Amino acid sequence: MSTLSFLKNQPTKIVCVGLNYKDHAKELNMPLPEEPILFIKPVTTLIGPEENIIYPSQSKQVDYEAELAIIIKDKIKNTEEKDVMKYIEGFTCLNDVTARDLQKKDGQWTRAKSFDTFCPVGPKIVKNIDPNNLKIQSFLNGELKQDSNTSNFIFKAETLVSFISKIMTLMPGDIIATGTPVGVGPMKKGDTIEIKIKGIGVLKNYVK
Ligand code: MG
Repeated sequence: MSTLSFLKNQPTKIVCVGLNYKDHAKELNMPLPEEPILFIKPVTTLIGPEENIIYPSQSKQVDYEAELAIIIKDKIKNTEEKDVMKYIEGFTCLNDVTARDLQKKDGQWTRAKSFDTFCPVGPKIVKNIDPNNLKIQSFLNGELKQDSNTSNFIFKAETLVSFISKIMTLMPGDIIATGTPVGVGPMKKGDTIEIKIKGIGVLKNYVK
């Protein structure tokens, strides 16, 4: 049985938000964006809980990014914020693994974000929680590295889904990664990385 079997539908895309926490923007000394900054990870990056993140030979800095993921339930296009919740299956943990050196070198993000195994998700989809007020943390080898709350979102979950739905049709199973808070950092081979979101659980993966 696949470690991704908790996803009811095979996603067609993973749409990610580049900078969506006030604390992270402050850390980077960047002004708050006026609109969400989007990029896409291919679905071949997906792995489930307890699976290995494979450290690519092309990179010397592979970072973790703790994120809340939104899972789409029904096809959605051109939908207003107030109507998007009924199209959402639920929420889970996601690690937007990033080859930081390649992200800086390339000036755009496709290579850095797209290596196979660079998108752990899980451990389960949870409904009926407020996506805009959840404690979110990451632990590297058990040590707390990121410690924030989705109340620090620059654009809240409903805003993101509506904004994206006005650009591209979202299909059942599609995943939206809502950005990472302050405290991202590098992993090395042999590390264990955990993304923990209150009310959802812990997503644990190993770097190999
Ligand atoms: Mg990210």
